[in-house]
Amino acid sequence: MKEDNFDIRKREFLKKCFTLTTGMVLPCSEFVKLNVSESRDIYKREAMFQEETARGILCRICPNECVLKEGELSECNNRKVYKSKLYTLAYGNPCSVNIDPMEKKPFYHFLPGSRAYSIATAGCNLVCLNCQNWTISQTSPDKTRNYQLMPEKVVEECIRQGCGSIAYTYSEPVTFYEYVYETAVLARKAGIKNILKSNGYINREPLKKLCTVIDAANIDLKAFTESTYLKLSGGKLQPVLDSLITYKESGVWLEITNLIIPTWTDNLTEIRQMCQWLSDNGFKKTPIHFSRFYPTYKLEQLPPTPVSTLEKAARIASEEGLDYAYTGNVPGNELSDTICPSCKEKLIVRQGYRIVANALKNGKCSFCGSKIEGVWS
Ligand code: SF4
Repeated sequence: MKEDNFDIRKREFLKKCFTLTTGMVLPCSEFVKLNVSESRDIYKREAMFQEETARGILCRICPNECVLKEGELSECNNRKVYKSKLYTLAYGNPCSVNIDPMEKKPFYHFLPGSRAYSIATAGCNLVCLNCQNWTISQTSPDKTRNYQLMPEKVVEECIRQGCGSIAYTYSEPVTFYEYVYETAVLARKAGIKNILKSNGYINREPLKKLCTVIDAANIDLKAFTESTYLKLSGGKLQPVLDSLITYKESGVWLEITNLIIPTWTDNLTEIRQMCQWLSDNGFKKTPIHFSRFYPTYKLEQLPPTPVSTLEKAARIASEEGLDYAYTGNVPGNELSDTICPSCKEKLIVRQGYRIVANALKNGKCSFCGSKIEGVWS
């Protein structure tokens, strides 16, 4: 299918659509008392998946495939060429550190009721108009106030806080790849799980390497046409679909989030097509979260998603054979509970991020004994 705007380069897109604002920082949690570093050696970690080319240094981590000359900053705002080598500026310097319930990511079929030690650095490889975390995603690590938290320290803090998992989240973990990977290796050795909240915008080879240390991923599937993907996020749909398949093949526990934005991604025919694709490609047992949009960033003029639209989307998903279709960001909505696909009994009841009832026994429905897919302990 020909897409008229498809050849707009990301930087042109940025110039046309955005005025980037920097310098605002998400509030950091009370419970982590670490020194904030204003000055540090930002060239401390060479980037993985770099390649020398005649045009400059190529980064092969994500489909943007930036080619950078000396001193140039990447599209994700956190990689730079220094003395002919590509460096990540996002290593050991998260700007956001929190402890979150697993349900907030959202994960509904992965260690329900547990807590994740959550970190993010500045930077993202997409430019979504609806970004909730734009103050950290659309800027560079040298513009945010950061913690000094090397991988060993992340694992140590995670254990000290009694969390069973480390979540790489908020901005885009694909762009702080080296920090994620090396922390995840240490975490796994210490018996800590690693989870990603990601846009899935990553090339296959780095993703396969990452999957060797990641236990669960929640991937945003933002739309189901290339043109909407480009206009909404500056990215492409196909690489995200490819990533979903790679995650699945690699045995990482996967959940999918589809944010329904009025006038952008609320077309029920497209939602049905997306569900059909998921159904046809082996994702019938993969939970999907139809999440409610609230006005934010460049889409402040839009209304919140009507709850009825989310409910329709979840019903369409069920009609297309997806066993676990949820509404998200609607506390107390019945469709945020887990229902047994076989006997239709209610198994897990949620109120916001809280689990108020759980009738699973050893990963099975306690009414009919059917297996419920997930990682439950
Ligand atoms: S990870 Fe960043 S530097 Fe690498 S290709 Fe993607 S946007 Fe460019």
